[in-house]
Amino acid sequence: MNIILGAGIIGLFIGYRLLKKGEKVKIFDAKDLTVAASKASVGMLAPMIEAKPKETELLELMINSKKIWDKKYNNEEFKKIGLKKNSSLLIAENIDDMERLKFKRKFFDELGFKSEFLNKKQTEEIEPELNSNFLGSLFCENQNQVDPIVLRKFLISQINLLGGKIVNIKSIKKIKIKKNFIELDGKKIKARKIIIACGAWSGELINRSFNLLFPIRPIKGISMLVDAGRELFKNNLWFRNIYIAQRENNILSIGATEQERGFDENIRMDEVYYLTKNIWESFVDLESMKLIDIKCGIRPGVIDGYPIIGTLDKISEDLICAFGHYRHGLLLAPITADIVSDYVLEKKIDDKTKFFSPQRFNL
Ligand SMILES: Cc1cc2nc3c(=O)[nH]c(=O)nc-3n(C[C@H](O)[C@H](O)[C@H](O)COP(=O)(O)OP(=O)(O)OC[C@H]3O[C@@H](n4cnc5c(N)ncnc54)[C@H](O)[C@@H]3O)c2cc1C
Repeated sequence: MNIILGAGIIGLFIGYRLLKKGEKVKIFDAKDLTVAASKASVGMLAPMIEAKPKETELLELMINSKKIWDKKYNNEEFKKIGLKKNSSLLIAENIDDMERLKFKRKFFDELGFKSEFLNKKQTEEIEPELNSNFLGSLFCENQNQVDPIVLRKFLISQINLLGGKIVNIKSIKKIKIKKNFIELDGKKIKARKIIIACGAWSGELINRSFNLLFPIRPIKGISMLVDAGRELFKNNLWFRNIYIAQRENNILSIGATEQERGFDENIRMDEVYYLTKNIWESFVDLESMKLIDIKCGIRPGVIDGYPIIGTLDKISEDLICAFGHYRHGLLLAPITADIVSDYVLEKKIDDKTKFFSPQRFNL
């Protein structure tokens, strides 16, 4: 039996993948933690837009994960998992934004990624519902989205169908690893491989259990769900401060704040103000939109910005880390699941993949 700790999108995706490969899986998740990052995520699958100069290894990982999304999950069943086959528009609302887009365009060109500048009229032709206070946009093809709520439901139903088990418990304080079993707060469970996928909480759990310090910190984010009542936008929209993904059911997912506020579970007024102010500046017809929900999630941020995927050899070769996905967990879930299943099946891991292991911090 393989034990996964954490049923966020990373833990669930890994569970699904392992079950598909014929492995046995049991997932333990804390029922008292309400602010998992996956529940607040907007679900953009946009490696190029997320790319930053010099983050070469991360960009390659994001592109490869997007390829898996496109190849493996973009079939006729794509709607079941919440995938939407659309593209992205980066909107320039003033001269500064325009300069930023020119810089982006140059950067995209250097990476060999095609994007297209659209003037105001061309932008209005494809997105007539935008407010008129913008100058133009940059069109990025196939930078699409997945609905995390639909995806989560799909993964849970598939895990159950394939014979896996998801157990809701009180958040685990301490784990102990022994040969062929694990102790979760003193309770012994048979285990072949153990995967830690506790998102932002992974560092604390490892520290309490093994006295090892991972350079990971919580980064709080707020997003909003708004019912537009009809299809407003075909593309995902990226403004300077917010981004918007319209789902198939006409709900707009709007993100996001990004702040260091520890594990704060509350939604603060300044966070609501930040989102609503920016929405108000960029949308018309706000009175016809209904607020559905405001979500809070804690992103797992690692000091170098890269996820941590690999065995924690200092403790046991059977203990595998899969956390620290920061802003990119939805995008990186498929490749993380593939890498972790290679570790579980004890396949040879190439050097490029080893780069993401805990060993880069001498752990
Ligand atoms: C507002 C917002 C917008 C985002 N937008 C995007 C986006 O557009 N695209 C994208 O790719 N990513 C986005 N992200 C990032 C993405 O959501 C995260 O990277 C991803 O969800 C991390 O998933 P995870 O499974 O590692 O962590 P989580 O979703 O946080 O899940 C961790 C799980 O572990 C469990 N757990 C933790 N500690 C314990 C314990 N001690 N015992 C038992 N269980 C435990 C928790 O209950 C939880 O279910 C966004 C995040 C936020 C907050």
